[in-house]
Amino acid sequence: MAQAEIGLIGLGVMGSNLALNIAEKGNTIAVFNRTAARTKEFYEEAGDLKDRIVPCETIEEFVAAIRPPRPIIIMIQAGAAVDQQMELLRPHLEKNDIMIDAGNANFRDTMRRFDALKDSGLTFIGMGVSGGEEGARHGPSIMVGGTEDSWKRVEKVLTSIAAKYNDDPCVAWLGENGAGHFVKTIHNGIEYADMQMIAEIYGILRDGLKMNASEISAVFGEWNKGRLESYLIEITATVLAAKDPISGNAMVDMILDKAGQKGTGKWSAIEAQNMGVPATGIEAAVAARSISSFKGEREAAEKILGLPAVPELKVADRAAFLKDLESALLAGKIGAYAQGFAVMSAASKEYGWNLPMPTIAKIWRAGCIIRSQFLDAITSAFTKTPDAANLIVTPAFAEMVKETDGALRRVVSAAALHGLPVPALASALGYFDSYRRGRGTANVIQAQRDFFGAHGFDRVDGADSHHGPWGSGLNG
Ligand code: NAP
Repeated sequence: MAQAEIGLIGLGVMGSNLALNIAEKGNTIAVFNRTAARTKEFYEEAGDLKDRIVPCETIEEFVAAIRPPRPIIIMIQAGAAVDQQMELLRPHLEKNDIMIDAGNANFRDTMRRFDALKDSGLTFIGMGVSGGEEGARHGPSIMVGGTEDSWKRVEKVLTSIAAKYNDDPCVAWLGENGAGHFVKTIHNGIEYADMQMIAEIYGILRDGLKMNASEISAVFGEWNKGRLESYLIEITATVLAAKDPISGNAMVDMILDKAGQKGTGKWSAIEAQNMGVPATGIEAAVAARSISSFKGEREAAEKILGLPAVPELKVADRAAFLKDLESALLAGKIGAYAQGFAVMSAASKEYGWNLPMPTIAKIWRAGCIIRSQFLDAITSAFTKTPDAANLIVTPAFAEMVKETDGALRRVVSAAALHGLPVPALASALGYFDSYRRGRGTANVIQAQRDFFGAHGFDRVDGADSHHGPWGSGLNG
């Protein structure tokens, strides 16, 4: 067999599916796993694809099997394991070989690894892969960060395995060093917000309108035919329709209401804060998962505080209210995506990446968890108005905000009046209302700060008195 085009280390869930995808698309691939028994098992189960897979038991054998300059995908647990694996691999590599971390790395680790290899002759790619197991096997969305030369070496293979949206491959080189993993992190943050807002709407339907899971499934199924059409809405309809084989109840009613938050979702909220760019939808989603995990505390609090003493939600025109919920979800989604893209835009400047916003939206249109037709509209908005300060002021999205924010307002108000928690949807409303108001209220904050700490302020008339006449303040 000719030398392999690429190598892959780590035959866990993601790695084995990615390796099969690579082989299926006509590429020869060498594979290695820390536990050799797994490599053997993987190869035995590869069926027709065995011809294009070179199973290796030692690192030496593995490296020798790949055509130089060698691209080697490392698809293992993020964190220290990646550093350990890189250390083990490094002595066997030659000039221009490329180590590619395809796990969910923190982009700061990616920057560090990239820098560490800078003068070594070797190079490093940080590659975000989205779409879970299914995506890895049949076509993920792939976000690449590294040097342009190293991208050129892997472009053909990655293009062959990426998801396709109307024949456009969902893979792109996004910039140097940490660009790919940063974009993957924000992708995951947006995914958190998207999922949370769907859960909030589900909560209104379940606890407000007292609908059962299969009725709610039908609502989401209907919405998936319209403007909300997306993978997440589709699977929400599917999971709500599923029955528990043990109890016969709706499966979703048998699942404990606790969700974990860690890794990329949390990092995206942290990086938004670091950048000084609000990502309130992502933050609300991370916080909602944290509160969800305090199951015992919530149950105890319900005994002490009771549910809010508010009237039950009664809707005179159910069809109109459902329409409002659909529009509110779209408005909330616009807010979360606008924030995510604003964070990426700030990071792009901070780290000198020159992130291509229309391309990012493009490669998320298929393969990844947040895939949707909505991303096509984002691609188009950023293509037509590349210098827009924010997605919501591009002409198409400004129209959408104007058209849907009334519904968002009604839904958030109804939820508040009837005691139904909608933190992410409410955060979108707060974001729109703050962002669109030319005259805000920070003048009083500046006055307070000047009073207690002589911080000074700018005047609206441009005159050059920069402190107040407070008299009794510390600044006198
Ligand atoms: P997994 O099924 O748990 O497999 C982990 C792999 O890592 C195994 O091959 C394991 O080898 C290897 N490994 C662990 N520690 C190692 C070490 N110190 N040195 C060398 N190899 C080590 O994990 P996964 O779900 O495929 O996830 C892999 C990466 O993809 C993670 O970064 C994850 O966050 C990311 N990711 C996952 C998904 C998903 O949906 N699962 C989606 C996107 C990204 P052994 O067989 O020897 O234990």
